[in-house]
Amino acid sequence: MLALGIEGTAHTVGVGIVDGSCRVLANVYGMIKPEKGGIHPREAANHHAEAVVPLLQKALDVAGIGPDAVDIIAFSQGPGLGPCLRTVATAARALALTLRVPIVGVNHCVAHLEIGRGTTECEDPALLYVSGGNTQVIAFSRGRYRVFGETLDIGIGNMLDKFGREVGLPFPSGPILEKLARDGSILLPLPYSVKGMDVAFSGMFTAALGLRRDGARLEELAFSIQEVAFAMLTEVTERAMAHIGKDEVLLGGGVARNRRLQEMVGRMASDRGARMFVPPGDLCIDNGAMIAWTGLEMHRAGVRMSLDDTVVDQRFRTDEVAVTWR
Ligand code: AMP
Ligand code: MG
Repeated sequence: MLALGIEGTAHTVGVGIVDGSCRVLANVYGMIKPEKGGIHPREAANHHAEAVVPLLQKALDVAGIGPDAVDIIAFSQGPGLGPCLRTVATAARALALTLRVPIVGVNHCVAHLEIGRGTTECEDPALLYVSGGNTQVIAFSRGRYRVFGETLDIGIGNMLDKFGREVGLPFPSGPILEKLARDGSILLPLPYSVKGMDVAFSGMFTAALGLRRDGARLEELAFSIQEVAFAMLTEVTERAMAHIGKDEVLLGGGVARNRRLQEMVGRMASDRGARMFVPPGDLCIDNGAMIAWTGLEMHRAGVRMSLDDTVVDQRFRTDEVAVTWR
C-alpha cells in the first residue's frame, strides 16, 4: 500500500510517498523565505499553490511510480495558518477525487511523533517537538497523544529566527546560531523561564536583544541562548518522562537537528536509563512523508473521511485525535 502525503501548515510545502512499512520512497519540499519580517499567511499560501503541482510530479518521479500506484491521499489538516491549510487541503481533495482514492486529514503534531516511531526503533516515546511555530512535549496516554508541556508564548524556532532577523542574520537563523554558538563560551544572564511543565521564550528574546545593544558578541549570545533555552526544554521533557513513566524520548521539529540540543537531551536520557531517538533531518522538519505515513496508519486502523470531514482546523489540538491505530 502506498500513501502520498501533502504538508503545508506554515512556511514549508512538502510531498512525501511512503509504503506500508514506513519506507520513504520520496520526500520533497519547498519553503518560502520571507525577504523581511515573518511569514505572511497569504503569501505563503500563494507560494504553496504554485509549488504543490511541480512537487507532486517530482515526488512521483523520485519514487519512480505513476499516480495510479497511489492508494491513499493524506494532508495536513491543522494546526497551522488558515490560508496555507486551505490551499493544501484543496490540492489533496482534487487529487483524491481525480485518482478515486480515499483522503485522510492528519494532525501535524501527531505526524511528527508517528514518523519518529515509524523510522526509528522507539515504540512509546515522549516527543519533544521543537519547531518554528510549535514547542510541545507530547506522549501517548489512554488512547490519545496528550500535551504534557508547551510554550506559553512563541515557539523555540520562532524565537531563534526572530532574534537572528533582529541582528541581521538570514532566515532560517537557527542553524546559523548553532554554528556561531560553537565559538562562544561565556554564559550571559538570560531569563530561565520554566513554569510548571511549560516554558516561555519571549523574555529571553527581549533580554538577548538588550545584551546585543550593550555590545555582547553574537557568538556569546548564540551560545547563551542555546544553553538556557535547551536546558529549559530538557528540564520539562525530563519531568514529563518521570511523571508518565516513559523510558524513551524522541526529538522532532526543525530545531531537533541542533547537535547541542541532541547532546543535552541525550545526556538527560542516559542519566535516567532512558534512550533518545532522532529521525533523519529531513523527517524532523515539516515534511510530506510524515503526513503520508500517519494517514496510512489511520486508514489501516479504519479511519474514513468524507469530503465534509476534510475541513481544515487552524487550532487542531493534538489531544483531539482518537489514536485508534496503536
Ligand atoms: P520546522 O518549523 O519544523 O519546519 O523547522 C524550522 C525551524 O527549525 C526554524 O525555526 C529553524 O530556524 C529551526 N532549525 C533548523 N535547523 C536548526 C538547527 N540546527 N538549530 C536550531 N534551529 C534549527
Ligand atoms: Mg512542524
